[in-house]
Amino acid sequence: MPDHDTIAAIATAPGAAGVGVVRVSGPAAPAIAAALLGRAPRPRHAHFADFRDGEGALLDRGLLLYFPAPASYTGEHVLELQGHGSPVLLDALLRRACALGARLARPGEFTERAFLNGKLDLAQAEAVADLIAARSATAAHAALASMEGVFSRRVEALLQALVALRVHVEAAIDFPEEEIDFLADPAIGARLDALRADLAALLHEARRGVRLNDGLRVAIVGRPNAGKSSLLNALAGSERAIVTAIAGTTRDVLREQVDLDGIALELADTAGLRETEDPVEREGVRRAHGELQRADAVLLVTEAAHAEADLALLDALPPTAARLVLVNKIDLDGAAAREETRAGLPWLWLSARTGAGLDALRARLRALAGATGGEGAFSARRRHVLALERVAVHLDRAAEVLAATRAGELAAEELRQAQHALGEITGVYGSDDLLGAIFSSFCIGK
Ligand code: GDP
Ligand code: ZN
Repeated sequence: MPDHDTIAAIATAPGAAGVGVVRVSGPAAPAIAAALLGRAPRPRHAHFADFRDGEGALLDRGLLLYFPAPASYTGEHVLELQGHGSPVLLDALLRRACALGARLARPGEFTERAFLNGKLDLAQAEAVADLIAARSATAAHAALASMEGVFSRRVEALLQALVALRVHVEAAIDFPEEEIDFLADPAIGARLDALRADLAALLHEARRGVRLNDGLRVAIVGRPNAGKSSLLNALAGSERAIVTAIAGTTRDVLREQVDLDGIALELADTAGLRETEDPVEREGVRRAHGELQRADAVLLVTEAAHAEADLALLDALPPTAARLVLVNKIDLDGAAAREETRAGLPWLWLSARTGAGLDALRARLRALAGATGGEGAFSARRRHVLALERVAVHLDRAAEVLAATRAGELAAEELRQAQHALGEITGVYGSDDLLGAIFSSFCIGK
């Protein structure tokens, strides 16, 4: 439900800067503008103005811009007051706007209003936050695409196809004497199959969108002394992890953010996975297992002599994580860096110490992060992927019951739930809790 009060916030980052902006949105915006300007503001015009406090003392001198509803970011009357980027001045300007009828905005409240006024859908609103928070050029590019609606339009197209199919199935239910014929129509099955194929493709791209957005989460596993910490350091180009020749030194999960030519990697060096009595070390092992469950990719670091035996370490991993086997320390036996596929897994021979083979590893990581393979990439969030996965489950079940029993009611219910899950992505369906959780993670002033 749109609020009818007026909100204000400093929209620029805290700290001293050349320019700072106080943003105001809501019905009182034109009156606040008129009070500051001494006359009615002209829409979309840069007024040079003296900003004065209630006693008429000069606060700052700057630009005042007025965007009448609905052609504004929030869809409401919006005012932008551009002053000098001093936290003290901007604070005074903000307090002046509040004295004239605004209240302080909550984090994300401008974008929340834009969403509630239909200026952007929920996935686009989330992309605004992701764009602001983007840690790499690739991530920013992808977030921009989602903000422009690239992802939302794909979801919308699926939603329309789903609704059309529902209409068809519901119609069959409404004419029970013909239901069997209706549902036996191969066209229904074919349309459902096409929908599932489109969904699978979108899910694939959305997962990639999450990796682009969050960065690729890479867990490094292997027995103690295999060279995990050395590899982390080699990739990160720093001496962050403790490298020693004593087994079990890495007693916790070490995380490192690495920018690999514009893609964010989050590398986690897990403690050596082995049974241990040492409680500190055991805690490390426990955390390592948690780290594995949320990894997008797992690097198994091993050495030539242990490689086959160490493969067992991969058994406990989530099926969605990509795996690479890294045969480290090739400098010791003079082997050449190379790549090979064994039993369906990519194996890379390398040396964390000399750096041999690391370029091949970086190329693999870039590919896994979704940075290769083209244009049209959009950002997405885990929430979206989870929703798409639920849609897939419902569509699979719908196909099953249709094929097995031709039970129209059951299929219709699955399709209804699929539609609901899909609609959560763009916010067609959404709870206040969901909206609260999403917008409260924004920065203030956006
Ligand atoms: P971790 O326990 O798996 O994290 O292993 P570390 O990274 O701490 O390395 C254990 C030992 O192996 C250290 O003495 C490293 O210097 C050594 N080491 C790591 N990588 C290489 C490598 O590529 N070649 C050689 N010769 N030694 C390595
Ligand atoms: Zn280590």
